[in-house]
Amino acid sequence: MGRIILLEEDTINKIAAGEVIERPASVVKELVENSIDAEATSVTIDIKDAGKSLISIIDNGTGIMRDDLPHVFERHATSKIKDIDDLMTVRTLGFRGEAMSSIASVANIELESQSEKDILGSRLVIKSGKIIENREISTSIGTSIKVKNLFYNTPARFKFLKSDKTELNYISDTVEKIAFSNTHVAIKYIVNDDIIFHTPGNGDLLSVIQCIFGTKAAKMMLPVSYSNELLSINGYISKPEFSKGNSTYMIFSINKRIIKNNMLKEAVKTAYKSFLMNNRFPVSILNIDIEPDKIDVNVHPAKAEVKFSDDRSIFNLVYYSLNQTLTSNETVYTESFKD
Ligand code: ADP
Ligand code: MG
Repeated sequence: MGRIILLEEDTINKIAAGEVIERPASVVKELVENSIDAEATSVTIDIKDAGKSLISIIDNGTGIMRDDLPHVFERHATSKIKDIDDLMTVRTLGFRGEAMSSIASVANIELESQSEKDILGSRLVIKSGKIIENREISTSIGTSIKVKNLFYNTPARFKFLKSDKTELNYISDTVEKIAFSNTHVAIKYIVNDDIIFHTPGNGDLLSVIQCIFGTKAAKMMLPVSYSNELLSINGYISKPEFSKGNSTYMIFSINKRIIKNNMLKEAVKTAYKSFLMNNRFPVSILNIDIEPDKIDVNVHPAKAEVKFSDDRSIFNLVYYSLNQTLTSNETVYTESFKD
């Protein structure tokens, strides 16, 4: 007899979950992105014990149709793409159909959802990987998901979690960045029963900056706005007199997806070169919109990175638009000094 065996479904799911669901913040990211993909205009995120005991996400999106319910927690089950060609045009944050199955394999879940297409909504409870409740309920249009006892059945993963403070920082960082890149969604963020912030959801990025970084910081920001046939860049960058000791406040989104990208960071740093000392970094929040066929969003397990088909021109345009903002600010600054 040979030594190769086919892994069981449950084992496959747990292994896959390791890629997508690294820590509580990954659960928050995946669930809020699902709410945004479902066109929610309001999302409430409620965290207890740094997400270890509870992550609750409530949205007013399209809801899940009762007919779709059996597939939500299956692997590679998605309503967002049909074939690989769709990746050229996809504008949703999800498309792999992995998050819900991954989360269900490492946590207990209570899901309530109502689609406007159904007369009644659904309530589904998954415990120890099994559906222990599935019934019709009457609720409002949208979806509510409670994730409890995360990593209860993957002790290795649980053991590698950092302190509550650190894990909560990861969550807050994720929620803040999603709020910056989705200004049309009112995001309410609650931690251990305290409301941390509640964005207005009116599309105004400066209000979101004010909600999250405070009024003082918001007053130190300059607007950036640029568009051509390739892309649009919208956001705020800090006045040179307001800088930071590290580069963690350089935040980027591409088509509403929060991403890490060294080339974009370099473009921002280069624009500030003559405005800041070497060891100082700006605060910059830039939302870039680009035709989906100019980027590849399928290059990272958690989709935290994208590849541009033309790095050079993106670099130049970001540099150019920031440089314009900074130079015209300087003109105003020196002129106001004159009189
Ligand atoms: P993906 O987002 O890649 O499609 P997920 O595993 O995250 O995969 O979700 C599976 C499917 O469940 C989604 O395609 C969507 O149809 C449905 N879904 C999940 N969360 C929500 C939600 N908050 N509102 C509406 N539908 C949802
Ligand atoms: Mg998803």
